[in-house]
Amino acid sequence: AEEAYARIEAVDGDVQAFLALNKEQALKQAEELESVPAEDRGPLFGLPIGVKDNIVTEGLETTCSSKILQGFNPIYDATVVRKLKEAGMITIGKINMDEFAMGSSTENSAYQKTRNPWNLDHVPGGSSGGSAAAVAAGEVPFTLGSDTGGSIRQPAAFCGVVGMKPTYGRVSRFGLVAFASSLDQIGPITRNVEDNAKLLEVISGVDPMDSTSANVEVPKFSEAIGKPIKGLKIGVPKEYMGDGVSPEVRESVLAALKVLEGQGAVWEEVSLPHSEYALATYYLLSSSEASSNLARFDGIRYGYRAEEATNLLELYKMTRAQGFGDEVKRRIMLGTYSLSAGSYDAYYLKAQKVRTLIKQDFEKVFEEYDVIVGPTTPTPAFKVGEIVDDPLTMYANDILTIPVNLAGVPGISVPCGFSNGLPLGLQIIGKHFDESTIYQVASAYE
Ligand code: GLN
Repeated sequence: AEEAYARIEAVDGDVQAFLALNKEQALKQAEELESVPAEDRGPLFGLPIGVKDNIVTEGLETTCSSKILQGFNPIYDATVVRKLKEAGMITIGKINMDEFAMGSSTENSAYQKTRNPWNLDHVPGGSSGGSAAAVAAGEVPFTLGSDTGGSIRQPAAFCGVVGMKPTYGRVSRFGLVAFASSLDQIGPITRNVEDNAKLLEVISGVDPMDSTSANVEVPKFSEAIGKPIKGLKIGVPKEYMGDGVSPEVRESVLAALKVLEGQGAVWEEVSLPHSEYALATYYLLSSSEASSNLARFDGIRYGYRAEEATNLLELYKMTRAQGFGDEVKRRIMLGTYSLSAGSYDAYYLKAQKVRTLIKQDFEKVFEEYDVIVGPTTPTPAFKVGEIVDDPLTMYANDILTIPVNLAGVPGISVPCGFSNGLPLGLQIIGKHFDESTIYQVASAYE
């Protein structure tokens, strides 16, 4: 814990990953842990971790990088935070993100812009950009992120670290501030695949506080590390290797496939034919859910309250007008529109139907293949400020990660070479609740 704080002190002025530090509490916890007998210490005992700021932490400010939650001190821990404590992990602090997890560059934070540690002129990705940058910069070896449409995998790719979005339902969402409840999952970001598997073991499992958490066995994911991949079948979607993907990204994936082939895995081209509709489907559904979830921020119950209001309606309006940033407002408007009586059938309902088709695309490929492999992102990290005023280009960044959330299946990003000094990511996608095979393949490549 002390080392983590020293490193943060040394580099976070440049990287800007942390929003709030938990130093006093963390060092006290570390001291208390010293009395725990060796036989009661799990594999991650005593290790420092950073937590994305949309995961609530008792007594430690949780803002979702939004002005509207300024000063919000939760009165309970998220289930994952409780599990970290039970494993003897030490929460070092809260980490910067795009406001309410909406974005792909961490430029949408109301507080600060996190930078890519490999090149400070570039973004770390988003929305868990702070979580990926903190690991890449060596501030902490473990962080938690959340992934609704790519927010763990895309920043992991941009920062050259390992990020896993587990199967929907694998990890409890209790205490994760909801963005799009049918898509959100919490997951681990780490330096290597084995650490990642061990952290997922800690945070997984059914939770009575989250009715969408699944009552399925949690395997020892770390036992899959290093298992031979001979005979394993890999599908490579042609839609993920096409024109929109830059040549250096495509080449890095082909080189990774060679490595896997060298160990006896076989790969073939497959098709996920509805991929082209994923982006539109995702932005309709996620914005619809967000417009409903974010209705609770009214200036009464949490955080920020506009001072000048003279009546209740004005209080709601002024608090929300002042408290939410532009991107969040854009999503609330889009979502409210698509849920309104006149457009529900044409947009929301239709998007739900297309979501089912996208899910079926994956099911079909998984009838024959063990995993799907492709790039995590179409390009390496772009420059700070480069596309921040162009939401559609920003959205297109997640074109290869979003289908995974819509289908509810698990996916990881592992480092896969560099382009001009910036890391690239390899995405490995698995069957529902089969994170083990993903870790097996990821460790074979790593
Ligand atoms: N970039 C996507 C969005 O802005 C994904 C965000 C996420 O996964 N939280 O919605």
